[in-house]
Amino acid sequence: MAQNPGAKNQTTNPGDEAKPGTPGTGENVCPRCRGTGKVEGAACPDCGGSGKVTEGIGGG
Ligand SMILES: [Zn+2]
Repeated sequence: MAQNPGAKNQTTNPGDEAKPGTPGTGENVCPRCRGTGKVEGAACPDCGGSGKVTEGIGGG
């Protein structure tokens, strides 16, 4: 569990499929930045720089 000290506000990002904590969803490594939180030196637009996105689990 390594959280960024300044990232206490949980907000959705363009790459999120659901809000954090939504049943049936979970955090995944952002496929766009591969968890680095950056794309070409700038904050990843999909995960907002968190390196993670919230996606549905299982579903179909
Ligand atoms: Zn990302």
